[in-house]
Parts: sequence; structure tokens; C-alpha cells
Amino acid sequence: MPETQTPLSVALEQLRIAAEKLDLDPGLHCMLAHPKRALIVSITVKMDDGNTRVFKGCRVQHWDARGPFKGGIRYHPSVTLDEVTALAMWMTWKCAVIDIPYGGAKGGVCCNAKEMSKGELERLTRRYTTLLYDFIGPYRDVPAPDMYTDAQTMAWIMDTYSQIKGYSVPECVTGKPLSVGGSEGREEATSLGVVISAREAAKRSGLKLKGAAVAVQGFGSVGWHAAKIAYDLGSKVVAVSDSAGGIYSAKGLNPYDVYKHKSKAGSVINYKGSQNITNEEVLEAECDILIPAALENQITKANADKIEAKIVVEGANGPTTPEADKVLHQKGTILVPDILANSGGVATSYFEWVQNLTREHWTLEDVNRKLENKMVEAFNSVHKIAKKEKSDLRTAALMLGVGRVAEAIKTLGLWP
Ligand code: NAD
Repeated sequence: MPETQTPLSVALEQLRIAAEKLDLDPGLHCMLAHPKRALIVSITVKMDDGNTRVFKGCRVQHWDARGPFKGGIRYHPSVTLDEVTALAMWMTWKCAVIDIPYGGAKGGVCCNAKEMSKGELERLTRRYTTLLYDFIGPYRDVPAPDMYTDAQTMAWIMDTYSQIKGYSVPECVTGKPLSVGGSEGREEATSLGVVISAREAAKRSGLKLKGAAVAVQGFGSVGWHAAKIAYDLGSKVVAVSDSAGGIYSAKGLNPYDVYKHKSKAGSVINYKGSQNITNEEVLEAECDILIPAALENQITKANADKIEAKIVVEGANGPTTPEADKVLHQKGTILVPDILANSGGVATSYFEWVQNLTREHWTLEDVNRKLENKMVEAFNSVHKIAKKEKSDLRTAALMLGVGRVAEAIKTLGLWP
């Protein structure tokens, strides 16, 4: 397979591997290779300068045999329908691996959120929500945050949806602020799940999280919280990065201080007492645990053999190509795949949805205990399959996720 891969070609190759291992019926494999629905919208926004701009957006709903569609919304200048389709497919497997009753979806808007004002982002989000209105909702498709969207974005979606309905519908979206029905622990849930995955993988390779050297690519929501949680548990965070570049310190960085520096300076680079390095160098940094938490296609055939980490835990979706998977597996690197490692976010989204539907509010202890149980149970299930199949954890996780979705589709049957 060539290494000029897109997220969709990677997702389809992963599905092919799982289908082969599961001896899946070719018709079923073909169904799962295509999303059930893809909606393309043109979002017209009045900009602050008085001009009107049209942004391209989409929502892809992959498969919902196990429950309503669920998935984040990404604002990024390079968003494409293919990328969003891949992300929707990964969501389907992820929800099945962590065993929550959802199917997979994803949304994207082609825009540069960093260059837009808060008012412009609010108008864009509300217009996008009205365009999706007939296709989303608590029992249809429940959006959540992804790159360059956050709790505020989700509050605008909830308000727009509720205004059209005529009553408050907090369960139409997750990742909301606490004041409007958000869940305790949601903000850090993906990262807590990533660190729990790292801990479980470390246990099985004779390593301890405490004292382990950790490198994190991406210092956004997932990366910063993962660095902070690992640091709080006694790991040594040796490298972090963002879109402007990375920093390294063999002695270890204090993520709280780096966060303060980034808040003032706009990037992690030039942090005192550290050495500026490139994003590539962050991936190749000498460390025990590497957490890619930025974009897709970061670990490829070109750099896989330069990865020093003993354990790679995918905070981001699709950061490793299938060719790189092979290289890492051959050299004994344990890779905890995205559909397992970063599933803590959607698990806690599910907890938020359940709390909203039942009009309850759980404590942080309750949420994190349930998350810990879900993550450990999923990790153990995947690990057991990997042992039985003598495969890497990705293949095992795909077998578990794809297998569960295929079983649900077969049980429901095809209608009409
Ligand atoms: P975010 O927007 O908060 O942060 C993204 C980070 O990546 C930023 O620090 C940005 O500077 C950095 N970045 C962008 N381009 C980069 C580049 N070329 N090199 C290095 N860093 C770069 O997004 P997020 O929510 O943290 O999401 C990050 C990844 O995690 C995405 O793949 C997303 O799909 C995945 N994910 C997020 C969640 C969640 O709950 N937020 C859940 C599951 C998976």
C-alpha cells in the first residue's frame, strides 16, 4: 500500500484487515465501508466587517445499528468530506469497543477558527446547527466537541436546537458547560482515558507510569490534560508541542507552567529552560511513552523506525498509518490504538447524555469511577483478543469494534 495515505484510505485499510480476520461477509464489509448518510451544507455567515462569507460544512453518519449516531464537530481549514468520513467510521468502532450504545458520526466545517471572532464563531455554529437540525437530536445524532470546538460551541448548539424545538433539550449535544447540563469530568475525560490506557499498557510491559518519560504531540484539549494528568501521577513530561513547534527538557517540564506560558505567548515554544525542537523531533524524542494528540498521519513509514518510545498511546484520531503500525509492531513497540485509547471522551459523553435524559447530576468521583471501569474493561477485552490472535492491539480493537457492529447489523436485518 502506498504511503500517500488519507485518513479515509487508512480507515478503509483497517476495516479490510478486521474484515479479513473476522471472515466478514463481503456484503457486510461493503456496507461498513460506506457511511449511511453524508450531509453537505453551505454555512452563510455575516462577518464582523459586514461582508458575507460561505463556509463549507458536513456531517457524516456512519452506522447506527447499536444506537444513535455520536461524534464530534471539527472546525479546521483543511477539513474534507473524506477525512470526516474516516473520523465517523472510527467513532462507530470506538463506541463499540468501549461498549456504549451509539453509532459513529462526525462533523466538520472548513474554517480557520483561530482567525475568527467569538461573534463570527457563534453565528457560524448557530447557522450550521439549523442546517443540521433535521438530522441531529437526542435519539438521532448527538454532536460533541473536536478540534477547535469547545464547551461554548456545544452551548450554542444546544441553545439553537432548543430555541427551534421550543423547549430546553440539553441531551441533544454533549461536552457542554456544567451550567447547562455538562458532566463533571467531561473536559478531562479523553485525556484521563489516554493516561489509564498508558498505565494499563505500562503494567503489561514491566513499566510504571510513575517516573516514566512522556512526550506529547499537541498541547490542545487532549494533549495538555494528558500531560497534566501524567505529571500529577509522577511521570516526567520531557517534550510537548503545538502547531508552532515543540519543546524538550531531559529534566522534565511542568505542564502547568507550560500552559501558562502558552496562554501568554500563544505557543509552547520558547519556554524557559527548555530546548525548542520540531514537531517531528517530539515524535522521535527519547521517552518511554509517546502520546500523539494532534492530527492524523503523524507516524508513518518514514519515521516509524525512529520512534524511541516503548509505548505509543493515540490521543489523536488516526495519527499512525497501517505501514507504520507494522514497523512499530515488528520492533516491539506497544501501540494503544485511538479507538481504545481516546474512547474516554465519548464514554463520558455517554454519561453526560444519560444524566441529561434522567435529569440527574453525578459527582466527579462517580463519573471517573465509571470511566475507569469502562476503560479497564475495554483494555482487558482488547488485550485478550490480541493474545489469542497473536496480533497488535489495533487489530484486536478493530476486531472487537467491527465484530460488535457487524453482529448488531446482522441481528437487526436489512429493511426494506
Ligand atoms: P485541540 O484543538 O484542542 O488541540 C489540537 C492541538 O494540536 C493544538 O495544540 C494545536 O496547536 C496542535 N496542532 C495542530 N496542528 C499541529 C501540528 N501540525 N503539529 C503539532 N501539533 C499541532 O483539539 P483536541 O480536542 O485536543 O483534539 C486533538 C486530537 O484528539 C484530534 O485528533 C481529535 O480528533 C482527537 N480527539 C479529541 C477528543 C476530545 O475530547 N477533544 C476525543 C477523542 C479524540
